[in-house]
Amino acid sequence: MESYLIDTHCHLDFPDFDEDREEVIEKAREGGIGKIINIGCNLERAKKSLEIAQKHDFIFVAIGLHPQEADLGDDKFFEEIEKLLKEPKVVAIGECGLEIQRQNSTPTLRHCVGGRGPDRSVGKKQKEMFLRQLGLAQKFNKPIIIHCRNAYPEILEILKKEKEKNSGLRGVVHFFSGRLSQAEELFKLGFLISFTGVITFARDYDKVIKSVPLEKIMVETDAPFVAPEPFRGKRNEPLYVKYVAQKIAELKEISFEELAQITTENAEKLFGI
Ligand SMILES: [Zn+2]
Repeated sequence: MESYLIDTHCHLDFPDFDEDREEVIEKAREGGIGKIINIGCNLERAKKSLEIAQKHDFIFVAIGLHPQEADLGDDKFFEEIEKLLKEPKVVAIGECGLEIQRQNSTPTLRHCVGGRGPDRSVGKKQKEMFLRQLGLAQKFNKPIIIHCRNAYPEILEILKKEKEKNSGLRGVVHFFSGRLSQAEELFKLGFLISFTGVITFARDYDKVIKSVPLEKIMVETDAPFVAPEPFRGKRNEPLYVKYVAQKIAELKEISFEELAQITTENAEKLFGI
């Protein structure tokens, strides 16, 4: 069988796709995107994501609470999420994690519909929500998808402690933007990292990409955000994960097919799909 790619992180549930969602999905399927993981960032988005996945056999879902949405995390939320986690299409928890506004840091993407935007400082609540979702990952024995913005040391500290309690802890730090040493620490903890279209136009990732083992990486779009070259600035979509894969293959000096095959295997193993 010809190799195919998996977009391991996108948001097809966003209103950005309301006009042409089905076309975008069809285009991806026809273009060689064999599977898609759609991330539902809060309860409402999780339900919408599941609706989409139930219509398409090649779409799977992760559900959780994005750090920008931490305020929505009450007991009721967790009650509902636990119910949804029993749906067979739900293959991971997340995205969750920490997002810290450091001095001079560039503003972050508006990542969640209804999210209150980029200027909220990391609080106790973000951490509390992250820990609770790590607990869910253990309870349901599912991988966790981590959103980490300016918070690599904090995330690593939390994961190290968690690993002592939960040896089955596994997952991915999506939109990886850390240093090589931080990637290596994540690998030791049983985590993978994934790359977005940003690697096609920013050179800061080249060194990490060249150095990390192929068995530890995956590709994603994070659509509708960060469209790769040649679509930079436009709306992103799952089909464009091809450009991310192409760039990695180029940096690693391997064929596109080999890169596709290995990253797809990595994703299928992690998510059990
Ligand atoms: Zn995302």
